[in-house]
Amino acid sequence: MKKQVFLIDCDGICADFDSAFIKSFKELTGVQLKNSIFTKYDLASCLPRNKKLEKKLYKLTNKPGWCAKIKPYPGAIKAIKKLMRKYDLYFVTASSFHNPTWTHEREMWLRKHFGDNVQTIHTKHKHMVYGDFFLDDKTENVENWYFHNNGTVFIWDKLYNKDCDKNIQRVDSWEQLFGFLDLL
Ligand SMILES: [Mg+2]
Repeated sequence: MKKQVFLIDCDGICADFDSAFIKSFKELTGVQLKNSIFTKYDLASCLPRNKKLEKKLYKLTNKPGWCAKIKPYPGAIKAIKKLMRKYDLYFVTASSFHNPTWTHEREMWLRKHFGDNVQTIHTKHKHMVYGDFFLDDKTENVENWYFHNNGTVFIWDKLYNKDCDKNIQRVDSWEQLFGFLDLL
């Protein structure tokens, strides 16, 4: 039987972008930021305005090698491998316009964690990708996909996506997701 298609985002779901950003901020300033300040998807916009610092942060996070160093969330790799056994899974991940090596590093990162047969679609136009299930942490992506497709949509609960359409199923753990998918 043909497997159902599961579309999954990378940053915020599998790759801990926020911690990498916090680490870079600490390298530059010595200040340890708390995750609780990130109430908007654009993390830099949650910081007090400081043009000089923003410029340095921008330079650091867009340096070759930065994407490759992002760590996976604990438990995420194992959980996604479980999804891969049941579904035809594709990572749908946006490339960075500002970081020239982002896309290649992300591809290699996914191969390192999931093997050379990992399926990746590098696009920010996620609503154009067909699937039976869609999981992402960005309100805009989730709502766009929901309004353009007929599959089941999940939003991964974050402080910055509380504004998401209430009809979209919110999940905050792999166990909860597996419960909805009948995979427990
Ligand atoms: Mg994301």
